[in-house]
Amino acid sequence: MGLIIDLQAIVANWQALAARAPGARPAAVVKADSYGLGATRVAPALYAAGARDFFVALASEGRALRPHLPDDARIMVLSGHMLGADLTGLIPMLNSPEQFFRDRAMRPGGAFGIQLDSGMNRLGFEPAEWAAIRDEALAAGPVLLMSHLACADEPDHPANRQQLEAFRAMTHDTHVPRSLAATGGTLLGSHYHFDLVRLGIGMYGGEPFADAQPVVTLSLPVIQTRDVARDESVGYGYSWTARRPSRVATVAAGYADGLMRALARDGRLVLWADDQPCPVVGRISMDLITVDVTGLAEVPAELQILNHRQKVDDLAALGGTIGYEILTSLGARYPGEYL
Ligand SMILES: *Cc1c(COP(=O)(O)O)cnc(C)c1O
Repeated sequence: MGLIIDLQAIVANWQALAARAPGARPAAVVKADSYGLGATRVAPALYAAGARDFFVALASEGRALRPHLPDDARIMVLSGHMLGADLTGLIPMLNSPEQFFRDRAMRPGGAFGIQLDSGMNRLGFEPAEWAAIRDEALAAGPVLLMSHLACADEPDHPANRQQLEAFRAMTHDTHVPRSLAATGGTLLGSHYHFDLVRLGIGMYGGEPFADAQPVVTLSLPVIQTRDVARDESVGYGYSWTARRPSRVATVAAGYADGLMRALARDGRLVLWADDQPCPVVGRISMDLITVDVTGLAEVPAELQILNHRQKVDDLAALGGTIGYEILTSLGARYPGEYL
């Protein structure tokens, strides 16, 4: 069983996205352990390619990453200054007046950024809160003013323009570097780029970056193969019954490895033996998946669930979710291998 992560592809995707925003610094978002792919491997590879700005969600993630990056790499913490957070060597993106005053009291002179809410209503200063604190905050020298788009994966959504206008209104008369776009916003065009773009899912091979190179291959070992007679059933709930004499392989992976049961809900999930698709039959169990390999002349030692034929977003569509959730769900049980 193995998750093979192509660091070159991540770097190539980062560079390709950076080229879409030529005037902006391309930052790398490595939160949630680089979307499950291993921040201590991914971030240094991006640093070697020229990335100097990294975003994590939590201070603890930033602290774990800090020793793996040289001092001139900036690690920004999107959750800002949470109570009790150790921000040594990190740059919090302060999200509220409460965080601002806490940070100034506890880390006087420490580098910080400000996150503004331009309409998503999730994180960041409301316009009125910002107006009240602006002069004091700007005098303290923030390194970045940022906000986040809620609908950037839908280019025609009116919220994109509205958030752009709101962000401009809150920041136009400052001289602080500004950032609005993640992957989706980067693809919306130059109005959205400002001084820094925060590249995440597109680097990892996911939509909405249609030109992304695939990054992950996941192979699952076959641990047993059996003949199943016509009218015999397979797996929990007997949800699949053989309509013909069949050969069924059992692979060692399941929902405890992030391959959620919903992937098999409509019977369209396949595993691949080279270029041959093999239908998953029956329910996905905690540690096992059953596959109809009747069509194979020979059953290989491993079957692939993620490759260049079945990508992260294909799995997401089958499971009724998004590529982000597939990636971050891929469990720690697989031995990771880096190309
Ligand atoms: C996760 C995140 C990003 C990266 O988003 P992608 O869609 O993965 O590119 C950027 N900015 C913020 C604030 C985020 O939370």
